[in-house]
Amino acid sequence: MDLPTLTEVRIPRSRAELALSDTVVPLAGGTWLFSEPQDHLTGLVDLMALGWTPWRRRTDGGLSLAATCTVAQLVTIPSQPGWRALPLFRHCAESLLQSFKIWHSATIGGNIATALAAGALIGLGGALDAELVIWTPDGGERRERVARFVLAQRTTSLLPGEVVRAIEFEPSALAATTAFRRIALSPLGRAGTVLAARRDLDGAFVLCVTGGTTRPEVIRFPDVPSPAELAAAIDGIPTWFSDPHGAADWREGVSALLAEEIREELAR
Ligand SMILES: Cc1cc2nc3c(=O)[nH]c(=O)nc-3n(C[C@H](O)[C@H](O)[C@H](O)COP(=O)(O)OP(=O)(O)OC[C@H]3O[C@@H](n4cnc5c(N)ncnc54)[C@H](O)[C@@H]3O)c2cc1C
Repeated sequence: MDLPTLTEVRIPRSRAELALSDTVVPLAGGTWLFSEPQDHLTGLVDLMALGWTPWRRRTDGGLSLAATCTVAQLVTIPSQPGWRALPLFRHCAESLLQSFKIWHSATIGGNIATALAAGALIGLGGALDAELVIWTPDGGERRERVARFVLAQRTTSLLPGEVVRAIEFEPSALAATTAFRRIALSPLGRAGTVLAARRDLDGAFVLCVTGGTTRPEVIRFPDVPSPAELAAAIDGIPTWFSDPHGAADWREGVSALLAEEIREELAR
């Protein structure tokens, strides 16, 4: 789609050339930006030109993903010692409703910053307690967990001039056993609910619900909960919503069933 209000598309060579504002915003894969009108925008700054390395193993065994890492690059990260959670990356990536073009162009940073309920990589970050590294316009940076960054549908804590630089995963979360469930009203439909979960080596149980809620909902227990404890936690989620992809009560009901499946799987 043409974006007729744009007067510039800038190709930066360094951080100093980002100069973002509320009307000049980052362009990553462009799959969402060019899919609907953006009449409030006057400029785009092409982050892909900065050539960030898509991912790197940190010296402490954690993972740092560049915000510009594409979905296709994410799922080709080879297995690494201590990274038992890697299959969850593919599960979450495949929950994105997408064509070949989106698979190869959409970025992790763009997915999280777009903050759709069906934000496939939001569930991944939420379940693994991933932290965003956010560059601030004064040249500094701040850090925020993915699950806190996404405040509501299409709303994040990102301020004008800020840019997501990276998504970081701690070694302890990467070492966890993971489980995943997704359901939609039709075989290739947009997600009705998405559940991504992990069980840490110390037994801790973390479940992130997205897709059916207006923001990521993270549930934590020090060990695998009882069925009643988990059902009560799902019952306590306040942000179910209705749209053409599912009614709020259906989303809550199927999430409870799928959460119990995950509980049994991770208890084994
Ligand atoms: C047919 C179709 C199906 C889709 N299905 C899904 C789906 O199932 N689930 C889903 O979540 N999304 C879906 N999307 C939306 C979108 O394609 C994805 O969210 C994609 O991951 C966005 O990434 P991108 O790199 O293309 O972002 P862009 O389109 O380049 O940018 C999206 C937004 O994020 C901002 N942004 C990008 N990178 C950064 C950064 N590093 N820091 C700060 N802000 C940034 C941009 O300024 C813009 O506001 C779909 C889109 C289409 C067209």
